[in-house]
Amino acid sequence: MNYNFSSCTLCPKMCRTDRSKTSGFCGANDKIKAAKAGLHLWEEPALSGRNGSGAVFFSGCSLKCCFCQNSQISHANFGKEITVQRLGDIFLELQEQGADNINLVSPTHFVPYIIKALDQVRHKLIIPIVYNSSGYERVETLKLLKGYIDIYLPDLKYFSSELSGKYSHAANYFEFASKAILEMHNQQPNLVWNGLLLKKGLIIRHLILPGCRHDSIKIINWIAENLPSDSFMISLMSQYTPDYNNNIYPEINRKITNFEYNSVLNRIIEFGLNGYSQDKTSASAEYTPDFNLEGI
Ligand code: SF4
Repeated sequence: MNYNFSSCTLCPKMCRTDRSKTSGFCGANDKIKAAKAGLHLWEEPALSGRNGSGAVFFSGCSLKCCFCQNSQISHANFGKEITVQRLGDIFLELQEQGADNINLVSPTHFVPYIIKALDQVRHKLIIPIVYNSSGYERVETLKLLKGYIDIYLPDLKYFSSELSGKYSHAANYFEFASKAILEMHNQQPNLVWNGLLLKKGLIIRHLILPGCRHDSIKIINWIAENLPSDSFMISLMSQYTPDYNNNIYPEINRKITNFEYNSVLNRIIEFGLNGYSQDKTSASAEYTPDFNLEGI
């Protein structure tokens, strides 16, 4: 597809940057940039399988959360510029390495290029394509991906606009993310399995933030009220690690407590939602990938 990068509106920032001349809020210009590609073992079991998920970590992000564990690429925009042809080759190389899927991490600002790369190689790809997103998406951009994405893996980070404005520079986060998740579910309305691996479907991730359990519970309520419970999975993440910008907001400069974690998990159980809950012992910086241009 041809997209006009001279006035970019791919994400909800709609900053209308001329990406042929400069970078937008997300940090991206009109070249694809990525920081790492390789087999990633730390996704949900339905994605990591035995061999690992074939993750491509794109540089830049349209959210810039103050607690981001991948700030080296999301904030500092570390990475290497590559062509559409090279991106397609990376997908094939990951498949040859035994990847259980192609996992596009923070892909929003490169969607038109990803579609071009998939057009070039998808007749050779036999593994699912995963769209691993912050959830801060425009429905219009997601509609471009219809027929290309097998598994949507969005975050649903905040219900409160006050929290999303404060910690992620996006007071309109829930307004966009909630509509985006409904569109993703519309495109992939059922869970389809290949043994223990997910072939198609929707997994919604939620990271509990310190002091924000009431907001987390509102998110779980919204999910339960808006999606049929057997048609998707939820992945509750407890690994919040206060390792970036942690002196700006002292109230989130700690790990979450057992009480916070259990109160959100209990609401998920009350609703009978399926999915994953991450062990609190995984709240460690050692799970943060080392971005070294490997595979790029
Ligand atoms: S993708 Fe980047 S350049 Fe485009 S609207 Fe969003 S922040 Fe702006």
